[in-house]
Formats: sequence, C-alpha cells, structure tokens
Amino acid sequence: MKKLSALLLLTALAIQSRAQINDPKATEVWTPEPRVVAPGKPVSMAPPEDAIVLFDGSWLSEWYSGKDSSAAAWTINSDGSMTVKPGAGDIITQRSFGDCQLHLEFRTPVVVKGEGQGRGNSGVFLQNRYEVQVLDSYQNRTYSNGQCGAVYKQHIPLVNACRPPGEWQSYDILFTAPRFNTDGMLVAPGRLTVFQNGVLIQSNVEIKGTTEYIGLPKNEAHGKAPIRLQDHGDLVSYRNIWIREL
Ligand code: MG
Repeated sequence: MKKLSALLLLTALAIQSRAQINDPKATEVWTPEPRVVAPGKPVSMAPPEDAIVLFDGSWLSEWYSGKDSSAAAWTINSDGSMTVKPGAGDIITQRSFGDCQLHLEFRTPVVVKGEGQGRGNSGVFLQNRYEVQVLDSYQNRTYSNGQCGAVYKQHIPLVNACRPPGEWQSYDILFTAPRFNTDGMLVAPGRLTVFQNGVLIQSNVEIKGTTEYIGLPKNEAHGKAPIRLQDHGDLVSYRNIWIREL
C-alpha cells in the first residue's frame, strides 16, 4: 500500500512537472525587482573604423524578412530610424556572426499602450537564438527575467536603466558565442555583457541555451549565425546599428 501511494505521488509529480513546462509562467522569475537607475544624457555613438554598419538609416539591404526570406519590410523613417511593421515579421541580417561587439539604439513608442510584456516589446537576438529583451520597462512591471535588458528568462538585469517611452536608448553588447565540439556537444557556454544607456546591466553572464518563451533553454550545435530583431507587434524603432567582429 505504501509502495502504491509512493508510486501515485511520483506519477502525480511527473504529470505536474510536465504541465509546468508547458506553462510560460513556469519560467517567469519576479524577484528581485532591479532597482531603477536613471541613466545620463543620451549620446549617439558613431561606428568606429572597423565596424560593419548594419543600419545607418538609408537602407535595409543588410536585412531580410524572417517570415518569408523576402526583403526586409520594416518602415524607414525620415529621421534615420526604422520601425517595426507589425505582422511583417522579424528581420535578420544577411551576414552571420560569431563573437562580436554590437551597438544599437532603440525607442519604445511614445504612445503608451498595453502593459507588462505587451508594452513596447521587441528584442535583439544574438546568433538568431539568444534574446536580449527590448521592452518599455519604464514604470511597467513584468517578470524580472523578462524586462528590458533581460537575457530572456535567464538573467535579470542588474538594474533598470530605462529611459521613458519615446526616448532613444542604447545597447552595447559584448557577445561570446557558445563553443560546440565536433560531436555537437556544448563545451563552453556563450556569454553576454550588456550596457544599456552606458549603464552595465549584464556582466559576463552565462547563456544557458536558447531563450524560450515556454520551457527550458535548448543547446543545439551551431556555427556563426545572424542577428535578428523581433516583430512583437509593437511600434519599436531602431537606429545606428553597427557591429565589430571579434
Ligand atoms: Mg521580446
């Protein structure tokens, strides 16, 4: 009888853990809530000599649509920025990258709409897999490991260095790609360091695998891969995107 009830308990736990893994909430972490640090005045950093310019305001030729591999169809604005065209899909760089330094500037919509993950959501994916979250996290609470500057559902930003909606912000990202051996086994995890508006928000954190909305990170071997910007249906804008291969 004792054995039977132990078995039943184990079965129940197995069912429960499987149920939790199908639930996006199972991987949300709400504490701690990063303290707010107002960043200094914005400065736009021009690309250094050896950078590859991925977007300078004039064209989208470095990008294609992740939806159907056609030309990238986000909106180019007269102020040198581009804006997500909801429904057009993510945009992906033509080139692939390994270790790199990436600079970009982003702006969440001035008209505040929605809440939590539904406000100014986009994202920067390194190697098409590892998302540094873009979100309007100015006075907008969501799970800490999904707020602006989070390595999505893996690392909470050290502080909340967000500017208000409608203001330009910057990311400076140092990415070390994961290493896989010839058998496809992960031998050294990827790493990320991120400055938001000049403030350190991720310090050499270990990438646990793909940044999944539901379930646990996955580690499938891959080589160099593109940068991807997310269409999450919100009118987030980007400008001045450049990269240095390391
Ligand atoms: Mg996102």
